[in-house]
Amino acid sequence: MNRTPFSDIPIIHSELLSRYPEIRFAMSSRIGGVSSEPYGMNLSFHVGDHQENVRRNREFFLGKLNIKVDQLANPQQVHGDTVRRVRKPGIYESCDALISNTHEVYLVVSIADCLPIFLFDPETKSIAAVHAGWRGSELRILSKVIEAMKNEFGTKAQNLIAYIGPAAGVCCYEVGQEVARLFSKKYLNQTTMNKIHLDLKLMNKDLLREFDIPESHIEVSEECTICNSIMFHSYRRDGQRSGRMMALIGLRAGEIK
Ligand SMILES: [Zn+2]
Repeated sequence: MNRTPFSDIPIIHSELLSRYPEIRFAMSSRIGGVSSEPYGMNLSFHVGDHQENVRRNREFFLGKLNIKVDQLANPQQVHGDTVRRVRKPGIYESCDALISNTHEVYLVVSIADCLPIFLFDPETKSIAAVHAGWRGSELRILSKVIEAMKNEFGTKAQNLIAYIGPAAGVCCYEVGQEVARLFSKKYLNQTTMNKIHLDLKLMNKDLLREFDIPESHIEVSEECTICNSIMFHSYRRDGQRSGRMMALIGLRAGEIK
C-alpha cells in the first residue's frame, strides 16, 4: 500500500458548533495513524500503545488543526461527576468535565464509546467539554456542568448550544441488569434476544431539555462507535487494546468577523 499513515485522517465536525466562528471544535477518528492495529490513529498515552506513536499521531492531528500540544487542557477521566474550571492548559486531575472562558485553551475529551458532550454559550463566550459514560450519566454530570457554567460565567441555560458526539449507540450498547436498574425504562430497549440496550444519548439529551434548551440548540450524532469499526475506536468492541479518539473545543482569540 502506498498510503502514508497520515495521508487522509478525517476530522469530525459538529454542524451546529461550526456555525459559531468564535469557537473551534474537532474530533479525530481511528483512521490512519502510525500505531499498529487495532490502535491505528490512537491519541491516548494510557491504553498500552507505544508512546512515540501516540506522540506522532497527536502531533499530526493537532498540526492539521494548527493547535499546539501545550494549548490542551486534559482531564484525567475517572467516570465521576467532578467539574473543573480551566484557566490555563495542563493536566486536570480526577475529573470528567472542564469549563472555561479562557481563549486559545482547548478542552479535551478522550473517547471510545463514552459520550463526548460539548457546550457553548454564545452570550457569555464560555465552553464546556464533558465525558459521560453510564456512570457519569447516572450521576447527571451534564446537569452539574450547566450549573457550574451558571455559577462561574452567569450562563443562562436556554442560550446553550450543545453537541452530543459519536458514542456507543442504543443499537449496540448492551448492559446488565445491575446497570439497567439505575436508569428509567424510557432509556432501556429490550431486544428480541432478551438483552437490554441503554440509550445514553437520549438520556443526556433529556438532561438538556430539563434546562429548557431548545431543540434547535441541540445536535446529537447518529454515529455509533461500536458498529462503525472503520471510523471509531470502541472499548466495547476491541477491549484492552482499544485506542482513543480525541475531541476538543476552544475559544478562538482575537476579533471575529
Ligand atoms: Zn451500534
